[in-house]
Amino acid sequence: MNKKPIDKIEARQGDITRLDVDAIVNAANTSLLGGGGVDGAIHRAAGAALLEECRRIGGCPTGEARITRGYNLPARHIIHTVGPVFRGRPQDRELLAACYRNSLALANENQIASLAFPAVSCGVYGYPMAEACRVAVETTLAFLEKHSLPEHVIFMLFSAADLKIYRDYIAALS
Ligand code: ADP
Repeated sequence: MNKKPIDKIEARQGDITRLDVDAIVNAANTSLLGGGGVDGAIHRAAGAALLEECRRIGGCPTGEARITRGYNLPARHIIHTVGPVFRGRPQDRELLAACYRNSLALANENQIASLAFPAVSCGVYGYPMAEACRVAVETTLAFLEKHSLPEHVIFMLFSAADLKIYRDYIAALS
C-alpha cells in the first residue's frame, strides 16, 4: 500500500551539507551567487564549480527555484530557492509557500526521490520559525498528497530548539 504523506516527512537536526540524498534545497538569495548561513555552507562544501553553474543561470526571483548539480556534496543535486525577507505581510506566507511548492515541483520533474529542506527564510531573512514550520509542512503535505515523487522529505534543522518546533508540529498532525 502507498505511504501516507505524513509518513514520508521527517524532521532531523544537523548540517544539511552532509546529507546523502538525491537533492538538498539551498536558501539562496536572488543573485544565486552565494552568501552567508546555509547558502555559504553549501557553496563551500560543493566547491567553485557550483558558483560557475549559478553564474550561468543568472539569478532567481523570490519564491522561485532553480536546480544545479551537487558537485562535491554527497547530495546529487541542489535546488536553490529564494525565500522572502520577513516583514509581517500576507505576501510573506505566499512567497514562502511558493518556495516549498516550486522546489518540490522541480524535484518531481527531475525524478528526485529523497529531498532535504533547511528552514528557508528563518535565518538572516527573519521569518519566525513556528510560522515558517507550519507553511513548510502544510505545503509539503499538500504536494505529496498529489505526487508520488519525492518519496521522502527531510526538514533539516540546525538547532535542537528548531527541531523541537518541527517535531511537535508534525506529531500533532499524526
Ligand atoms: P535565510 O537568508 O533564508 O534566512 P539563512 O541561511 O540565514 O537563510 O538561514 C536559514 C536557516 O538555515 C536558519 O535556521 C539557519 O540556522 C539554518 N542553517 C544554517 N546553516 C545550516 C546548515 N549547514 N545546515 C542546515 N541548516 C543551516
